[in-house]
Amino acid sequence: METLIEPAIEATIAEQIMAAERKALLQTYARYPLVIMRGKGCHVWDVDGKKYLDLLSGIGVNALGHAHPRIVKAIRDQVGKLIHCSNLYYHEFQGRLAERLAGISGLDRAFFCNSGTEAAEGALKIAKAFGRAIHPGKNEIVALENSFHGRSIGALSITGQPKYRNDFEPLLPGVRFIPRHDTGALEAAVSERTAAIFLELIQGEGGIYPLGEEMTRKARELADRYNALLVLDEIQCGVGRPGTYFAYQLIQPAVLPDLMIAAKPLGAGLPVGVIMTNERAAKALGTGMHGTTFGGGALACRVALECVNIIDELLPHIRKTGQYFRAELEKMTRRFPFVREVRGHGLMLGVEIDFTCKHFVTDAMAEGLLINVTHETVVRLLPPYIIQEREVDRAIRGLRNVFRKAARNHKPSA
Ligand code: PLP
Repeated sequence: METLIEPAIEATIAEQIMAAERKALLQTYARYPLVIMRGKGCHVWDVDGKKYLDLLSGIGVNALGHAHPRIVKAIRDQVGKLIHCSNLYYHEFQGRLAERLAGISGLDRAFFCNSGTEAAEGALKIAKAFGRAIHPGKNEIVALENSFHGRSIGALSITGQPKYRNDFEPLLPGVRFIPRHDTGALEAAVSERTAAIFLELIQGEGGIYPLGEEMTRKARELADRYNALLVLDEIQCGVGRPGTYFAYQLIQPAVLPDLMIAAKPLGAGLPVGVIMTNERAAKALGTGMHGTTFGGGALACRVALECVNIIDELLPHIRKTGQYFRAELEKMTRRFPFVREVRGHGLMLGVEIDFTCKHFVTDAMAEGLLINVTHETVVRLLPPYIIQEREVDRAIRGLRNVFRKAARNHKPSA
């Protein structure tokens, strides 16, 4: 009798990789079905060799693109000498990086850690210790609705978005949230009990919302009036992305914070976060009050130093290409009535759509583009700083196709 043998259906490499994750990882991420194998410049390639223009840079991390030759060289050189030696000893790069960041930020001292969340946690500890040294009741934090500062209990406590917080309540007490553009609410929330005001000058995860000069200056004035710290979260909007080193430098004369936190692009892909403070805030932390095993390692600091050197040279390019990208986006989106607004600074751009547009991400992938949609309705673009105008043109062509498809499929509600 003839036996029918089912042809063996081999799982593709991509399917095997995805299956392993489904089985063995905590299911915290809703990933797209894309396995990235390598990157070069502004492009990445998937497991099947398909090429994508990366307009998201690992959510703002790969700001120098992929495999930047100077970063590769610094890593290769340092990895054979010293990767890590703990914070029990000195190495040659931590102090140099701190001095360099002090020079570009206008602040005085640095503490290095490994992520944005860790920097936000450290900033909260400084704020608490600063307030407590003045008065035990000076422990309130004022933060913005719609903000995002990270996923630890402390960082969540100052993140003004219920969807991230709800499952973990109760969080830290004493946090007052105010609307983004409401200087009156800010004035009403800040008092002698306030230890710190936390702001993102361009809300990133929240949908690329620049805060504006009036709110920023008011926050500075109130922090001075009530002897509180002004803390700026520059994790997504800083380190070159807005076309200046930091978003607070967009305002002229610049409003200096007492404390600033940065991360994402700083390590050019390695996990590096930093807390920068002025002397007033620095005094809140004495020896032994804060620390980290990994933070400020030799490899991380050497690479971050090289990253800053490269960004120095790229700032005019970021401004010019950012303006070009924004102008082209405005031109392209004008004919789509469902586009509400294009906003942002430098190479941090958002396009707000008047319906849920999460599917734009997969539509863009089909066009060979990596983009992101945040808050359901905002297309978020955080391209590498090295992006060229011809790559912007390529991005615009792909995005136009995505928008055209949406125009065909989307029926405006009556
Ligand atoms: N703060 C801001 C403004 C952010 O955008 C992020 C991350 O997106 C964080 C904090 C948290 O940083 P990380 O994910 O490196 O912990």
